Amino acid sequence: MAAKKIQFQNEQLIVPDNPVIPFIEGDGIGPDIWRAASRVIEQAVRLCWQGKRRIQWKEVLAGEKAHRKTGKWLPEETLQAFRTFRVGIKGPLTTPVGGGIRSLNVALRQQLDLYACVRPVRYFPGVPSPVREPQKVNMVVFRENTEDVYAGFEFESAGEDTRALIKYLAESKGWQIRPDSGVGIKPISKFASLRLLQSAVEYALAHGRKSITMVHKGNIQKFTEGAFRSWGYEFAGDKYADSVVSWEECHGNPPDGKILIKDAIADIFFQQALTRPEEFDVIATTNLNGDYISDALAAQVGGVGMAPGANINYQEGYAIFEATHGTAPKYADMDKVNPTSLILSGAMMLEHMGWIEASRKIESGLEKALASGQVTYDLARLMPGAEEVSCSGFADLICELMA
Ligand code: NAD
Repeated sequence: MAAKKIQFQNEQLIVPDNPVIPFIEGDGIGPDIWRAASRVIEQAVRLCWQGKRRIQWKEVLAGEKAHRKTGKWLPEETLQAFRTFRVGIKGPLTTPVGGGIRSLNVALRQQLDLYACVRPVRYFPGVPSPVREPQKVNMVVFRENTEDVYAGFEFESAGEDTRALIKYLAESKGWQIRPDSGVGIKPISKFASLRLLQSAVEYALAHGRKSITMVHKGNIQKFTEGAFRSWGYEFAGDKYADSVVSWEECHGNPPDGKILIKDAIADIFFQQALTRPEEFDVIATTNLNGDYISDALAAQVGGVGMAPGANINYQEGYAIFEATHGTAPKYADMDKVNPTSLILSGAMMLEHMGWIEASRKIESGLEKALASGQVTYDLARLMPGAEEVSCSGFADLICELMA
């Protein structure tokens, strides 16, 4: 069976039965969790389609392994492979210190313009949580990935151009900025805000979600965060008038088949995500808010080892699914850490490809494995009566239980 490329036509992925999928194994614990996750993904596909569908993995290099083998941290062939094959998956990568690249993850996102960072956050029974009712958390965060303070437009304190900028702003706007300040620029464009919001709305529609909340700090930052909110309402009202309804229109009770679109100021959102998480569903937010929100929500359902993620360009069909934690170098090659983040990212990838049955199989196998109390060290130490298993042992258990 010859392997084929995933294509993208009329804004749709066309997935052959035997797609080539590039993967980056990752640094540190990357090889351990990749071995575990790829085995679970393959087993789910095999159980669903008995060989009729099969992924043809293609290893591409990035990070320490790439540097060792090619002298480059992110070889051009790797970027080219993601462009050619469109959908890929990766383990965590070390951020090279003083290597000329700020972060390999940021570089990948920028090069492929992966503008939506998508983080589903849901609870699996049995997982230790710091909150009382973690089962009420079931959200999907859409974080804008390309602008905001993450654009990297910063002026260092006391630099020549910083002084010139401060002087210009004093003269032209009357703004008094202390002369020893560092200055950052926060761009939020209508273009980037709306393509992110569109992704969130389309996701909500496709997945039968109940509401979309735009989270922002528009009360203070009116022309950036505030604009994100007002462009969002305007756009949703124009383009999705038949499918969304605002809070004012329905007093919080959307008619059947309609999705409620609302907004929340970020600080209140953080409170309410703890006190009444059941009121939030799909979240659309700017880059910095999204960074904080995705980690805070992940903590409610079990922390870094558990949260999957993806960076996606829905308009061109590029998507890279990834473990959201780092390389945890002290646990490298010990077959010890929790592979769930990468396994669930694999399940997200299968769902994105339309291979829903396999995605569900992974989730159900994982649910049963967690409920069995045989878990990796990070969960075992917090779960009374749990038995610690290795990274590969946990993957074996999932494979066995999803049969
Ligand atoms: P980290 O996530 O690697 O580790 C922090 C701690 O979290 C670890 O010591 C470990 O106790 C725990 N942990 C992480 N993953 C786990 C897992 N799967 N199972 C169980 N426990 C787990 O964060 P760090 O120490 O800040 O970063 C180490 C390196 O990873 C740095 O080079 C950093 O730049 C990089 N990093 C990469 C990514 C990415 O590639 N997406 C994300 C974050 C950090």
